[in-house]
Amino acid sequence: MTVTTETDVLIVGGGPAGALLGTLLARRGIAVLVVERQTTFDREFRGETLAAPSVDSLRGLGFGPALDAHGFLETEAVTMRMEGRDVLHVDYRRFPIGTLPIDIPQPSLIGIFHDAATALPSFSYGAGTAFTDLVVEDGVVRGAVLKEADGTRTTVRARLVVGADGRFSKVRRAAGLEADVQPMARDFLSFKLPRPAGWKHEAELIADGEKHIMVLPTFPDLLRIGHNLPKKGLSQLKRAGFESFRDGIAALDERIAPLVHEHLTSWDDTSFLEIFTAELDRWSRDGLVLIGDASHTCTPILGQGVNVALQDAIVLTPVIARALADGQGPVTERQLAGFVQQRRTHKRFVTKFQRMQEDALSKNSPLQKLARRARYRLLDKLPVKYKMFDRVINAPHEIDPVDRELGRKAPAVVAG
Ligand SMILES: Cc1cc2nc3c(=O)[nH]c(=O)nc-3n(C[C@H](O)[C@H](O)[C@H](O)COP(=O)(O)OP(=O)(O)OC[C@H]3O[C@@H](n4cnc5c(N)ncnc54)[C@H](O)[C@@H]3O)c2cc1C
Repeated sequence: MTVTTETDVLIVGGGPAGALLGTLLARRGIAVLVVERQTTFDREFRGETLAAPSVDSLRGLGFGPALDAHGFLETEAVTMRMEGRDVLHVDYRRFPIGTLPIDIPQPSLIGIFHDAATALPSFSYGAGTAFTDLVVEDGVVRGAVLKEADGTRTTVRARLVVGADGRFSKVRRAAGLEADVQPMARDFLSFKLPRPAGWKHEAELIADGEKHIMVLPTFPDLLRIGHNLPKKGLSQLKRAGFESFRDGIAALDERIAPLVHEHLTSWDDTSFLEIFTAELDRWSRDGLVLIGDASHTCTPILGQGVNVALQDAIVLTPVIARALADGQGPVTERQLAGFVQQRRTHKRFVTKFQRMQEDALSKNSPLQKLARRARYRLLDKLPVKYKMFDRVINAPHEIDPVDRELGRKAPAVVAG
């Protein structure tokens, strides 16, 4: 047995949400154990875009020097092209927030949080440790059963268990919190290519009927490409052969055609993402709360998954601190109600917007394509365009003054 058996807060999952929450709580001197079933931070391709509010928040929490030391790529705009015509352009430099979204690999981001946390005495980390079940007494969650890397089963008691274990959350299932899972019409296949010199720092969505690709310049010198597939269409795509897949991508954007033929050599260079949204009415019960993808799963549109996960952690930190200070027992659902209400409202709004985009992108008849282009062109001309996008991607974000002060005083840990 290597993990502690008693803690104030047990966080299941060391993704962006769990890693940041663990660090912020440990800075406040709260005993926290983060358990992560993987043994390293390396993971399959994940969301690498940090929206502007998260960049601002992380700087406000003292992670600016580590981000600067690592390096990142700033995205200046997003452009949509449909059937060969530019239909919408949003210049991120025109938003009042005054900060640009950045691209940084997710393992590096998690590493930055982890490096800041490991020096803190109240922080513990269980690598290769998986959640298996909850400990529930008289209807109240009192801890969890974990399976450690060597196969040992350990029961950890905690005043709060946080389920930050992602889109297929086992904590959510064990807690009996039901998710309304809505599959989107399409799934996604992603891959990376070298980025040619002089490539604009703009996210691009290129659509032809119901086929589209996202082309995202990313750190350090790469392009991330996301290609939509019909739902459950991966096996059909594979049956048609790798060459046909590459030709399909090249036909959507001739600029990347030579890169695709040179650098995309097998299906192993791609990763698959099933697209669905999951929404829950109830995110907590006595002794337990869900955050990040576990509490609400978005689609990849406008790169909001990581952003909303980080904001969950930032908003929840002072709520947990207050609840723990207010008594000795488990943190109650009532104490978490304000947090759930605030974050659920925002995340539902993001999902509603994403569903509208997804719906528009899955149109294929000539009339539907014409109407879609006309709609985006009209939006492009309206001043409300900036207001609308601002509301989705730059939602107001606040940092508790205590966390800001602790971030200011935190030693600048810049090792990777
Ligand atoms: C393939 C892929 C591509 C994506 N692309 C984008 C994108 O382009 N843009 C975007 O914004 N978002 C994207 N996302 C979503 C984005 O990565 C998530 O929204 C974000 O990572 C959510 O953070 P999280 O901390 O809530 O969950 P996660 O990042 O999923 O982290 C959950 C962690 O919990 C761990 N875990 C799971 N089960 C257990 C268990 N039983 N015990 C212990 N640990 C456990 C996992 O190993 C993982 O490290 C993508 C996700 C995937 C999977």
